[in-house]
Amino acid sequence: MKKTALNIADRAKWLHTAGLQKLLAALSDGGEEARIVGGAVRNTLLGEPVGDVDIATTTLPQETGKRAVNCGFKVVPTGVDHGTVTVVAHGVPYEVTTLRTDVETYGRQASVAFGRDWQIDAARRDFTINALYACANGDVVDYVGGLADIEARRLRFIGDAEQRIQEDYLRILRFFRFFAWYGAGRPDAEGLKACAKFKTSMQSLSAERIWSELKKLLAAPDPSRALLWMRQSGVLSQILPESEKWGIDTIHALIRSEQDLGWQPDALLRLQAIVQPDAARMAGLGKRLRLSNADKARLENWALADMPKPELSDTGLIKLIYGGSRQALTDRIRLALVAERAAAENDDQAMMRAGHYNRLLEVALTAQIPVFPVSGADLMQQGFEKGPALGQALKALEKKWLDCGFKLTKEELLAGLS
Ligand code: ATP
Ligand code: MG
Repeated sequence: MKKTALNIADRAKWLHTAGLQKLLAALSDGGEEARIVGGAVRNTLLGEPVGDVDIATTTLPQETGKRAVNCGFKVVPTGVDHGTVTVVAHGVPYEVTTLRTDVETYGRQASVAFGRDWQIDAARRDFTINALYACANGDVVDYVGGLADIEARRLRFIGDAEQRIQEDYLRILRFFRFFAWYGAGRPDAEGLKACAKFKTSMQSLSAERIWSELKKLLAAPDPSRALLWMRQSGVLSQILPESEKWGIDTIHALIRSEQDLGWQPDALLRLQAIVQPDAARMAGLGKRLRLSNADKARLENWALADMPKPELSDTGLIKLIYGGSRQALTDRIRLALVAERAAAENDDQAMMRAGHYNRLLEVALTAQIPVFPVSGADLMQQGFEKGPALGQALKALEKKWLDCGFKLTKEELLAGLS
């Protein structure tokens, strides 16, 4: 089961890029060989969009760099210890990694020996569908039965699942991530069982690696089945205790609304659908998984935001946005709309409420938020001195302006002072 009769040259547009072909040719000169591996081959075979193109090569990292520079390409030594250099060919970055045989593995810190054996390089990869190679001419090489698994959309560890997980516990999350994106039916029983068995060992993983995988999982077109299996195997509460004792049913309804209403997949909104809107817990989650400041703020603001009532007026909503965060209110309204749409199937009242939330969402997304027209300088022109009295007067005017629904102009507000 090595070289297969399969060739992807016709369907892989990306393979015909001049820069890539030049790089592969340079790396394959003089008894060496370079092939494409991983996501690009997998996704071409699945008919899914191709992102990064990763390359595996027999040349040693230094030699890889030398040959790429001779082609006139830029070389960035991204992970020389692991045998990886990034080559930028005609503006496109390629990760080029020397074939390896892992000697020992300590979590992700594998001590690496470089090799020349394609079969061994394939065997140290995680899943069969991730270990397919394509030669420069498009011929596909399969050492691990990946093609059959692509056909069946089956995610299977290469070799013994328990052993592969113990080499790197992140593979538990990768199992569910790739299942979410490409899997069909039920997850592979052996893989699922092994993930459940070693779930507590994920504690040893760095927060960054966990969140990076989880976010990719949550960004899948439909992550709901994967999340369900994660919950059932106990993997979900290990990494996301905030989702415990909280239904994850909303995720199904959210995906349905995304599809019906044309919303883009949004990893954080999906996360919000499976956790409780509790500010302290969201702050804890953000800290534990080391989210970016923007992501942390989004979760906390969402938890803190007032839940708009369905019958809230446009002006009422604009006031909430003025005093809070547009994103937080949009998130709240989307999830409320999702819940009402799900309930509307046999409840006319819910249908009405869904209609209201639909309108509020439009307002939340598009409304211009007015700017308070009076400044401190305006008040000083009216004879106010700098100090607390000026601040209080400004606050009082802002309240008046908000109470009238933003209608009073600067002149009217100032005229009201005297
Ligand atoms: P995508 O780029 O679409 O997320 P990918 O399969 O290309 O998917 P990468 O993270 O870019 O994933 O890794 C490239 C390849 O390296 C994988 O296809 C897999 O063969 C191997 N690989 C990556 N991470 C691991 C890991 N933790 N354990 C074993 N093999 C891995
Ligand atoms: Mg990749």
